[in-house]
Parts: sequence; structure tokens; C-alpha cells
Amino acid sequence: MQYIVVTGGVISGLGKGTITSSIGHILKDSGIKVSAVKIDPYINYDAGTMNPYQHGEVFVLDDGGEVDLDLGNYERFMNISLTKNNNITTGKVYLEVIQKERHGDYLGKTVQIIPHITDEIKRRIRDVAKSSGADVVLIEVGGTVGDIESMPFLEALRQLKREEQNVVFAHVTLVPEIGLTLEQKTKPTQHSVKSLREIGIQPDIIFARSKNKLTDETKSRISLFTDVPVDGIISVSDVENVYLLPQMMVEEGLITRLSKLLNMNIEYRDTWAKYTENIRHPRERVKIAIVGKYVDLHDAYISHKEAFSHVTGNTGIAVDIMWIDSEKVRDDQSVLSEADAILIPGGFGYRGVEGKIAATKYAMENGVPFLGICLGFQVAVIAVARYILGLDGANSTEFDEKTRYPVVDILPEQRGVKDMGGTMRLGSKKVVIKKGTLAHRIYGTDIIYERHRHRYEVNPDYIDMIEKAGFKFSATDEEGIRMEILERNGDESFIATQYHSEFKSRPLDPSKVHLHLVEQALIFKHRRMGENHEGYVAATSSQGK
Ligand code: GLN
Repeated sequence: MQYIVVTGGVISGLGKGTITSSIGHILKDSGIKVSAVKIDPYINYDAGTMNPYQHGEVFVLDDGGEVDLDLGNYERFMNISLTKNNNITTGKVYLEVIQKERHGDYLGKTVQIIPHITDEIKRRIRDVAKSSGADVVLIEVGGTVGDIESMPFLEALRQLKREEQNVVFAHVTLVPEIGLTLEQKTKPTQHSVKSLREIGIQPDIIFARSKNKLTDETKSRISLFTDVPVDGIISVSDVENVYLLPQMMVEEGLITRLSKLLNMNIEYRDTWAKYTENIRHPRERVKIAIVGKYVDLHDAYISHKEAFSHVTGNTGIAVDIMWIDSEKVRDDQSVLSEADAILIPGGFGYRGVEGKIAATKYAMENGVPFLGICLGFQVAVIAVARYILGLDGANSTEFDEKTRYPVVDILPEQRGVKDMGGTMRLGSKKVVIKKGTLAHRIYGTDIIYERHRHRYEVNPDYIDMIEKAGFKFSATDEEGIRMEILERNGDESFIATQYHSEFKSRPLDPSKVHLHLVEQALIFKHRRMGENHEGYVAATSSQGK
């Protein structure tokens, strides 16, 4: 068992998560069994109760864990499935230690950060390592070195190095380029490595983020000040798509350095060659509007963004995402006229919902390909009730407890639930698809397992009415009680799912409904261009350029 610890320096937002994921991808594609742990030094027990506006999307795992979005990146890049234990937070560590203390496990002792907290951190890391059976476990430490919150974790990792056979330290830093000559400045890297060394950690690899590739001179300077050999300084310059990162790191000589550090013969076989080629040189483009309320922070919908990227990698159809603030389309949907398809993602709370309903109505009336996910599915049900069935004021009881037509209502088992953390209908559940439906054609199977995160569902009292109005619930849960997919009879381009298909989308196995939406978007786009011949000629002739 070996470990690679990835820490970050200088500033946050350098892409530490994708760098960690890329290392994992390279090892995985070299036939090495990998797992990954994300350490989040905040005091929340998990990410479930956090606002996506601050930390980005709450990612959901098979076991129902509500975790940091980096775990989504690990799953996608390494093509593995993780558990909630792969996300360690200060909240989890302290809660465990305090519970043990109350239970009397430390009777007579003073409970302290060292050794009790650090021991608990190491125990959790080793537990994941053991149960995953991995050869190499990647450990990413959230935040930047020097943060007070991450201190106990870094101390635990320093100790881990003394106790385990092999722990490799990788440090991600920033090399700014300034002045007219774009001189690459190494001082921030020097300082951040110095802070690491002060706490007893010497990095073995430095991933230096910069706009342009590091020059040889910059590399030698960093090497001189940090004692990391030049072949351990990996230049990570800006890439237009994260899936191009592993290739860049390979070209930078990461494999040679890792082989030495892990004492392994790493033989990398690039399984993404065709995939990345499609991403680099797509042959078609479509515009898809994501109508949500956290659109200013694209990370809030990162799994959708990635799912579309996966579609591009497999089809060569690039997706230009139009980020549409749902509050802005409530009264005026004209911004949607550019869209070749509309996606309504998940969400909570009333703000922005009327705009989502308006966007759904717009899609239904104008035949714009539509995909609703989770809240987007519920919104579709509300739109059908209001505008097709004429149930004025139909709503979800999440937004209007007293609505006359509660077409979406709280799940029976959710009544009386008081705790907000980890109590929704969460994680992987069986979905049973009816034969002869669009959903069945899309999935090509009767049974799928998809990840969920919701408290509300379609009210069974309205199912018949909705189905008589030209719609069909083409999939349900195992008992046939909960509705999972809604489609419109005779319409290939309208579908909505209660589950979050974006969470299980993988580079070489994209979410089937996202793939379907992109295909429908392309058909829609060509049809529209065909109607407007001038536009069609202009667009096709510009494609060759
Ligand atoms: N707010 C809705 C519910 O709780 C939808 C949740 C979601 O979109 N993840 O059911």
C-alpha cells in the first residue's frame, strides 16, 4: 500500500482536484489499483447541508454520501465508485473522537489534537485504503497550506509518512507571469514549500500551475529552492478542457518521476486518445441552455458540464452551455430562442422555480428538446399540470404548502423528518423502465441503478390525470410507487428524470439522457437551419474554417 498526498499552496482554485484525479487516471490506466480520499477541513459533517453557491455542487455517491464535488472528479477520471468514507471532514473526525470520549474510551486521559485527533485521521485514511484494496491511495487535502483548519490533517499525514512503507508528497502551486516579458515568478512557490517544510513535510513532486509552460530556467530555480529534482517539477499550464490534463502531465515526465517514487514500473496505455481527439476537434456544435439559480458559479452544476463533455468525447458534438439565470426567464423567455435544447437541473427552495416552469412551458410549446433532472422533473410535472391539465396554481408542496393541486408532494417517509443532514432519499436506487417507451429505447434495458437526492415526489393522486393528458411515466422505483421518468407521447425530445443521471456519467460511458439531449439538439438545430436556408448555408460553410 502506497499513498500520494496532494497539498495546495499559494491560492485556492488551482485545480488541485483535477490534478489529483489525473494522477489517479494515469495510474489506473497503467493497470494499478487506485482509490482516493478527499480531506475537507471544514467543520460540517458532510457537504449535504452546504449551499452550492459557496462550495459548488453537492456530489452524491452510490451509498448516499453527500460529498465534495472533487469526489465526482475522482470517479470520472479513475472510473471507480467511491463511498462516503472517502470524504473526511473535520466534522466527522471530531464527532467520532468526542463520541468516544463520552463513551469512556479515553477514560482518565486528556483528549488532545495530537495524538487523538491525528490518530482518528490516520485511522480513517487506513480504513479506506484497506477496504478499497488499492495499490495506491491518493489523498487530497482541501484548502491551502498555512490554513489553521488543515493543520491537524497535515500533521497526521506527516506522521503517516513515518509509519507507512511509502508516502509521496505532491504540492500544487502557482507560478504567476508578470510584466511585458511575462516573467515567471517562483517566489510564491518558494514560500509555500517553505511553509510545508516548517511543518515537517518535504514535497517530492511540484505541480506548478501557470498560464504558459514553465521554462527550463524556472524549473531549475524552483528545484534549487525546494530540493525537488528538476524532473519532479511538473508544469501544468492552462488547458481548455480538464480531460486533456493527464496527457499533458505524461508529456511533462510525470511517469518517470512517479515510477521512481513508487518504485513501480508504470506502463501507461492511453485509453482516452479518441475521446480527447473528439474534444479537441469536434465536428458539430450545439447550444444547450442550463436554466438554474446558481448559474454564476458553474461548479454548482459541474456534473452536468462534465456529462456534456463526455458526450462530446464520444460523439464529436461540442456543447456550448448557455448559463441562464432562472429568475430572468420568468417573464421573458426570449434568451432561450438561441438554445438548441434546454436542461433544467436539480435544486431546492422556491426562488427561481417560476422561471424554470416558464422555461419548461417554452420548451413544450416550441418543441425545443428538453431534459429535466430531479427538481427539473418535478417542474415538468407542475408545467404539465398547469398548462396541459389546466390546474391553475398547481405546485409542489415544497413551494406552496397550501396549493389546491399538490402535484408534487413530500415523500411519505419524509414527513416528520427534522434533521436536515443526510436524511433525503439518497443514493443509488433501482429504476424499472417500461417497455415500448422512449426511456426504454434510450437505455436499452429494463433495469438501471441511478443516484437520487430528493424529499419530494410526484403525488400518486395525479398520475392517472397526467397520463391521460398525453404524457407517460415510463419508469418507476422497484415497488412501482415512485415515478422516476416522465416523457411526452410521440415526442422523442422531451424527457425528465427524478434521479440525477449526471452523477454516474463517465468519460467513456456518458449519461444516456444527456447523450440523447445532445443528439436531439443537433436534429433540432439542423431542422431550424433547414427552415432558414440562409442561416444553414452560413453555418455549414463556417464549419470548415
Ligand atoms: N427540492 C426537490 C426535492 O427535494 C428536488 C431536489 C433536487 O433537485 N435534488 O425533492
